[in-house]
Amino acid sequence: MGPDNALQEGFLTTRVDAVINWARSNSLMPMPMGLACCAIEMMAFAAPKYDVARFGSEAMRFSPRQADLMIVAGWASYKMAHTIRRVWDQMADPKWCIAMGACASSGGMHRCYGVVQGIDNFLPVDVYIPGCPPRPEAVIHALMDIQEKVRNDYSIAQDGDFGKEVPTIAPARPKIVTPEGDDAISPTGLYTQ
Ligand code: SF4
Repeated sequence: MGPDNALQEGFLTTRVDAVINWARSNSLMPMPMGLACCAIEMMAFAAPKYDVARFGSEAMRFSPRQADLMIVAGWASYKMAHTIRRVWDQMADPKWCIAMGACASSGGMHRCYGVVQGIDNFLPVDVYIPGCPPRPEAVIHALMDIQEKVRNDYSIAQDGDFGKEVPTIAPARPKIVTPEGDDAISPTGLYTQ
């Protein structure tokens, strides 16, 4: 029985984690932390030519309470680092962070006393984007990496055991089971990007 027939039967089986992660990964709402020239490429990433709406992330939010993906675009001075960290702390969990460009990732060419040599000195970065500046396609690729990370993480299970070590599980993939109990589709390859 193929997926279409299984849907006609009126039910699907899956894990709550898989459904929540599917919804989360397709509705990431970026907090654009545009600090320097990289921010122009970040704007292009959301503009019509590259159209990040295809990935459900076109809703840039300038309130930390409405965002779950911080994109730090540009170099961060020590003065600014305090503000960035405060905004990050105001974002609700779960949340993710992208370091966009050489400056955000490592300080870049700004080897000086005023610039933090990589935002991972004060933020937990999930994905680094190389380049000066990175092209919008690279930002989309980073977004897809975050989506894959979200899909293969715990959600409910981890919330219940916050702070404890959780065992490794197989990646959460949707699974359709026929009335006979057979897998209707292969669980592998659904999210191959
Ligand atoms: S990486 Fe290049 S484009 Fe981006 S903020 Fe640094 S100097 Fe500007």
